Amino acid sequence: MPVMTIMCVDGNLESRVVAFALISEESRQMYETMFRLFDETNDCSGVQTFMVDKCMAEISALDQIFPHAFVELCHFHVLDAFKRKINSLDCRAEEKDEVRRVVSKLCECRRENEYEEVKEELREASSESFFQYFLRNWDVMKERWVMFARQSRVNFVDRTSNRIESFHQKLKQEVARMGPLDLMFYNILLILRTLDNKITHQNFSSTFRKVPSSRPHLQKVVTPYAHACLVAEVQRSQRFVCRVVPEGVLVREREAQAGEEREAQAGEERETQAGEEHEAQAGEERETQAGEEHEAQAGEEHEAQAGEVLVINVKVCSCSIFRTKLLLCRHILAARSHLNLKLPLLDLIHKRWLQSENPLTITSLVAPAPSISVVQICYRNPLSRPAKHVQAKIITDQIADAVG
Ligand SMILES: [Zn+2]
Repeated sequence: MPVMTIMCVDGNLESRVVAFALISEESRQMYETMFRLFDETNDCSGVQTFMVDKCMAEISALDQIFPHAFVELCHFHVLDAFKRKINSLDCRAEEKDEVRRVVSKLCECRRENEYEEVKEELREASSESFFQYFLRNWDVMKERWVMFARQSRVNFVDRTSNRIESFHQKLKQEVARMGPLDLMFYNILLILRTLDNKITHQNFSSTFRKVPSSRPHLQKVVTPYAHACLVAEVQRSQRFVCRVVPEGVLVREREAQAGEEREAQAGEERETQAGEEHEAQAGEERETQAGEEHEAQAGEEHEAQAGEVLVINVKVCSCSIFRTKLLLCRHILAARSHLNLKLPLLDLIHKRWLQSENPLTITSLVAPAPSISVVQICYRNPLSRPAKHVQAKIITDQIADAVG
């Protein structure tokens, strides 16, 4: 039977299994039933993004039950699906390599116009049938797998389903494929409890063995991960300068501003040849280009370090740190400092980073393991269908009691 796992990321970016099920089939109806059950028994109003492999039944069910959230595709599964399709093409190896290269380039496009350009490259590099396959299956859902969309959504810079794959790997190692059902559940619960205890122990250590902080009041309230990020962002915010505009506050790194001033000076020197207005325009274009290149090179943690970033209401920023992690970024902190706001930082921090939302469950370290009595059942004759049903009911009741 297929295993279905729902995992979330806690306030320290640790993986937490929050639901687990054995399902009889991987149909849309089955997924809808499971997700509806999960939604009814949990507060899912804050869920913004799901990460799945490319299972259309699962994606449709998630869209149906959680219309306020967005479904992203695992980067590894996307590449794997392309690889299998490209391998099946009836063409020369060099042509397959070229299509593979362009597809890989498509995944990394950080701007939508760049994506459209590379798409044209794919049209030229691939056969008409492959391009039509691409349009039908992938282009229609580009927001689910291309980088330009990923970098604007809350996903904690995760772009694969590795967290769940790692958990499933542990399951395969520890749970016998053909063992009794009750023993299988017992082992699964044991693995979940062990992983949970490991994280609890880490949280226990980091909470009670605090290193001295420049922001002790923050350290008491937010998670260790959020605290480390915020302290670093506060330091970085000192490198930024701000100017107030009607829409909010434009924030720019000081070195970038100095660079622009040098550019403007160079423009003045060449003024007699090219004219001041033209040169200033060219300077701005070069500055923007340099900013874009720097941003593209910064990797997964990229943000606009050169060029201006708009901070609205000293609460919302357009950079990827804020958009992908919901963490206060250097730009918001710089704008806040520029306006000399006295509003406490804590009022601006998203609740997912508060310790109160990530309770330290020390009791789970000492709580007894769930009790399931394992009974070896031996029969001389095969059981009838009703008798099998009765036996299965007894075992599942025991499992339900242990889980509950
Ligand atoms: Zn920002």
